[in-house]
Amino acid sequence: MKALVYHGTKDVSVDSVPDAKIEKPTDVVVKITTTNICGSDLHMYEGRTNVGKGTVLGHENLGRVEEVGNAVDTVKVGDYVCLPFNIGCGFCANCERGLTGFCLTCAEPGSAGAAYGFAGMGPYSGGQAEYLRVPYADFNCLQLPSDVKEKENDYVMLSDIFPTGWHATRLAGIKPGDSVVIYGAGPVGLMAGISANIQGASKVIIVDQHPDRLKLAEKIGAVAIDDSTGDAVEKVLALTEGLGADCGCEAVGYQCQDHHGHEVPNLTMNNLVKSVKATGGIGVVGVFLPKDPEASNVMAKKGQIAFDFGSFWIKGQNIGTGQANVKAYNRKLRDLITAGKAKPSIIISHELPLDQAAAAYKNFDDRKNGWTKVILKPAA
Ligand code: NAD
Ligand code: ZN
Repeated sequence: MKALVYHGTKDVSVDSVPDAKIEKPTDVVVKITTTNICGSDLHMYEGRTNVGKGTVLGHENLGRVEEVGNAVDTVKVGDYVCLPFNIGCGFCANCERGLTGFCLTCAEPGSAGAAYGFAGMGPYSGGQAEYLRVPYADFNCLQLPSDVKEKENDYVMLSDIFPTGWHATRLAGIKPGDSVVIYGAGPVGLMAGISANIQGASKVIIVDQHPDRLKLAEKIGAVAIDDSTGDAVEKVLALTEGLGADCGCEAVGYQCQDHHGHEVPNLTMNNLVKSVKATGGIGVVGVFLPKDPEASNVMAKKGQIAFDFGSFWIKGQNIGTGQANVKAYNRKLRDLITAGKAKPSIIISHELPLDQAAAAYKNFDDRKNGWTKVILKPAA
């Protein structure tokens, strides 16, 4: 089959690889009809993770079930399913509490959390490919309704960014009427904005430096703040009576940049402490890694940031972090899409065949104007 393979820093190509197949009786094989490129893929693409050369990338996957293992009960050939990016077993101590982003049995030994085509998250191949092996299929497959063909570009966002944006707002503890400030108007930040709106936020403020992404922030009803002169915090405070927003979300991660384009890994976290009111919650879904050997300074190489802990403590804020437990949210978010109450496909800029994936990676990674979210159609 054809698949997008990582060969090294900024070097990916669509190659022929062995077909995905049933490896355990609890697996299914899915023919991928839509798969997205994610901001998380870019950390790998840029050589800023330990992902192995030869890995097939792609963790935002939707498709039609092609083959079913002998021990699979509920999933049938022909079903259209969306796969959470994290792979859970359903029976470990974390999965059974709904914390499927931290599965203990699918993960690498000594760690928690597994995913398709992802650094440090197990041996699972990704879905930027014609076919994908899905472990523990009864647990991991989210069944899609009969309008899947018409709303496929919405439903595919249930694999990651819509639940992840939602998770950011839950970690931040958003309540109806709250104001929320979101750093990052990439796909995840925009989904956090949509999620905040659905949950009754009184004001959604989204900060970024790219005009195309800020335009989308406005399109979803947020106040867009352009940080290209580096004064986002002052602008947020001016919009929140000098107190800061009720809660905040981090949707950028360790590769966040200042307005000169230099990486400053503590920037968004410290800006959030300043932009959120005393006692407010902060949800951090942007990725931070325990090691970043390619970083430019000694602390960052060890996965450390200089965090304004004193200001954070004095303000009595709280922080929630980590991978989104997609399965905790995807069923209900699917129902919002089916009912026409959520339309996450609004952020898609490019819908391309798989064989254009390498160029798409480059353009999305360059944050080229107009490249806000890329979806690939391997079966087209
Ligand atoms: P993206 O790279 O497309 O978007 C990030 C955005 O942040 C860009 O628009 C960039 O201009 C902006 N940005 C950079 N520095 C900034 C700053 N100082 N202030 C404000 N904005 C700034 O990525 P994405 O797909 O939206 O993903 C965002 C983050 O979320 C990534 O780190 C990704 O790995 C992570 N992620 C986490 C999970 C999870 O489960 N926790 C899931 C998916 C993605
Ligand atoms: Zn993703």
